[in-house]
Amino acid sequence: MTIFDRVGHKIMAVISVVVSIGLVLVGVYYTIEQERTVLAQNERTMLTLTESVSMGLQTVMLAGYADIAHEFANRLKKVPEVADFQIARIDGTEAFLDNKTIIDVNQRRGEENFLLREKSSRSVIFPAGDTVLAEVLAKKKPIAHYGTSEDGKRTLTFVAPIFNGELCYKCHGKAEPLRGLIKLTTSLTAAERDILAGRQQALIVVGILLIFIVMFTGYMIGRAVIAPLKNVTAAMSRVTGGDFSHRVPLEGKDEISQMAESFNVMTGELERTYTDLRSEQDKLHTIISSAAEGMVVTDAGGAVVLVNPAATRLLDKTVDQIRSEGFANVLDDPGTMSSLLNKSDHTPHLILYKERALNVYAATIHNGSGNVMGSAALMRDVTAEKRLEEELRKLSTTDGLTGLYNRRFLDQTLESELSRAVRYQLPLSVLMCDIDHFKRFNDTHGHDMGDRVLKIVAGTFRGALRNNDFACRYGGEEFLAILPNTAKAGGYNVAERFRQDVERLDIEGLKVTMSIGVATFPQIPASTSAQLVEAADGALYEAKNSGRNRVRIAET
Ligand code: GH3
Ligand code: MG
Ligand code: MG
Repeated sequence: MTIFDRVGHKIMAVISVVVSIGLVLVGVYYTIEQERTVLAQNERTMLTLTESVSMGLQTVMLAGYADIAHEFANRLKKVPEVADFQIARIDGTEAFLDNKTIIDVNQRRGEENFLLREKSSRSVIFPAGDTVLAEVLAKKKPIAHYGTSEDGKRTLTFVAPIFNGELCYKCHGKAEPLRGLIKLTTSLTAAERDILAGRQQALIVVGILLIFIVMFTGYMIGRAVIAPLKNVTAAMSRVTGGDFSHRVPLEGKDEISQMAESFNVMTGELERTYTDLRSEQDKLHTIISSAAEGMVVTDAGGAVVLVNPAATRLLDKTVDQIRSEGFANVLDDPGTMSSLLNKSDHTPHLILYKERALNVYAATIHNGSGNVMGSAALMRDVTAEKRLEEELRKLSTTDGLTGLYNRRFLDQTLESELSRAVRYQLPLSVLMCDIDHFKRFNDTHGHDMGDRVLKIVAGTFRGALRNNDFACRYGGEEFLAILPNTAKAGGYNVAERFRQDVERLDIEGLKVTMSIGVATFPQIPASTSAQLVEAADGALYEAKNSGRNRVRIAET
């Protein structure tokens, strides 16, 4: 993390740079202005001084004291700020050093008033062609120019004209408008000291201002921007951590406050939606975990993500086992699951699984855009229903006392077997059996004993038949057998075997016998089941009449 990862640091960096640039520019401008003022003031002071000197010099000269004027110039040089002071003639040579002017003045006045110097010399102040000299002579005004002294210090030099007034004419004539020039050179050390002090002052003021502005702005940004932003970011991280009840405290009406308010509204909405979703989820969870239907759900990658308690119960497996075995092996055989998933009608499928009848529905789940989200299997235990169904079916087709098929079943089955036999040209035999003198048996041994006999004979009847034969109770003590695909001889054999079995029975020391009539299609060309039964009944009647306990075959 660098310091520029924080908004406050970024803003402070930008403000510091901008304020620094601004203050430095103001400081530089202020310093330049101050320097200009100091130098201008210095120039004005020096100009006044130069003019005063020039006036003083002229006054001394009017009294005719040229020597004093020379001395005045020499003394002026000793003033600390005056680096040099010289008086020159308009030809650029130094005045007062030779006798040229003295001789000239004496001649003009006609008297030997001024004594000649013992030692005469010539010194040049402005060499020939000097521009400053030419400019002053032309403009007849003082000129200032800056320079550098031999010891490297900055200097300001004034060259001012000395005018040839009326009072000068008697000594110097009136040929020249100017008498000469004064050249005053002053050191700028004092002014430069002032300038330096000014710069230092400006630097200190700029520094203090910068520190103050940066501190104040930092404090204000911290209060107005950083602290509210921190509140919002802290609230955001709490919300992303799942604490939807948290709200950002609102202060003021600025953009951050508006943002915080919007954030609070959004969090409120989120909280409401989340609470609703949670409650829906709880409901769904309760439904799923308490459902009697087993559910196994996978994600898009096929990993099992949901197994409800009913599924573990129905499949007799733990959640971990179902997860580790995978969705394809939920019903142990992967083929079953893939065929269920590929079923186009998506109807539940009855599967026998671990002695349970399960109605299983499996499907691939797609989202709104048609992408696979996973697979789901729903299973319902229908064992009890199937048992009940079976029970009902039995009840509706069997006889309560003997367990043989009842009359209703017999009628339906015989009808369909006969039409099948007609269609495929197959033989079909029917046995009509009646217990002999059963009324008498009942009368002698009681009705309950009669019932017990009926049950035992029924069991023997079923035992005498093959698996695909039908043993039915036709009436009170009458039984009827339907023998599909059985010809006349076969029908007779079965009847005879049954008759013998009954004859051999010993029921609590008691005995019964049976008379049986056999009718076989196509020997009996029955077109209805009733015709075939009628023929068998006729044969039974014959068996009874010819002495009972025997089998008779119906003839056309
Ligand atoms: P046969 O057939 O030899 O001519 O004489 P039968 O005495 O058996 O005569 P029939 O067939 O007419 O009589 C049927 C008797 O069977 C009448 C009734 O007493 C008895 N019976 C019918 N249904 C039941 C039953 O469900 N239980 C008992 N115990 N007896 C029954
Ligand atoms: Mg009977
Ligand atoms: Mg009978």
